[in-house]
Amino acid sequence: MVDLESVQPVKAPLEIVDESWARALAVVAHPDDLEFGAAAAVARWRGQGKHVVYCMVTSGEAGIDGMHPTECKFVREAEQIESARIVGVDAVDFLGLPDGILEYGVPLRRAICAEVRKHQPEIVITNNIKNTWGGGALNQADHIAVGRATLDAVRDAGNRWVFPEQTESGLRPWGGVRQVWAAGSPDAQCAVDTTDTFDLGVESLRAHQAYIDGLGWEHFDAAEFLDGNSRQAGARLGVSHATAFEVFRIGLGD
Ligand SMILES: [Zn+2]
Repeated sequence: MVDLESVQPVKAPLEIVDESWARALAVVAHPDDLEFGAAAAVARWRGQGKHVVYCMVTSGEAGIDGMHPTECKFVREAEQIESARIVGVDAVDFLGLPDGILEYGVPLRRAICAEVRKHQPEIVITNNIKNTWGGGALNQADHIAVGRATLDAVRDAGNRWVFPEQTESGLRPWGGVRQVWAAGSPDAQCAVDTTDTFDLGVESLRAHQAYIDGLGWEHFDAAEFLDGNSRQAGARLGVSHATAFEVFRIGLGD
């Protein structure tokens, strides 16, 4: 007799992500979003000499219950800058949109489009756009709004007639984004080996100490948390640790 509760669903193997690129832009809603998994991959790419820029759509100012947003904004921006530095990223843009109440729509597409035109990436990284993280665990509204707007903004960026005020003020249209990668998606098909940079990913998450303390997760262990997720992805890629992404290809050709 089979104990059904002990039977884990077998997930398909993951493919290796395309690493034949030189410039990436990571667009996420909040400080800390990249550190819950993607940062170890960023550390690997920085180690390869690739150019990576972070864009925080909000400053996460509504993220700590016991701290007023006016103060929290500066604490969280400082933590994000430090966590970016740990993995070798030295440019972090903060767009200053309101934390917790982002809306998918044209204003958000416009803001992200300007970032794409400014930084001219080939790969854009964002967060899970699905309603859940898998297993019914609910995703957060800002993540979904930013992820969906990012998918649209990478196309907007290439069209000079969309948001023309940006091109008239000096930004050039940019149609060079080949893929958008969503970290933390339950529908990931690809992954990158992060075995050698796992520790840097842990350190970058620990840089968000005020945020983690504010969550009240008394026994939260950054290494243990990241180890669990990245080992699962690693097993599907045939390595020790990995970061998985849902890959969206732009255009019809590849
Ligand atoms: Zn978040």
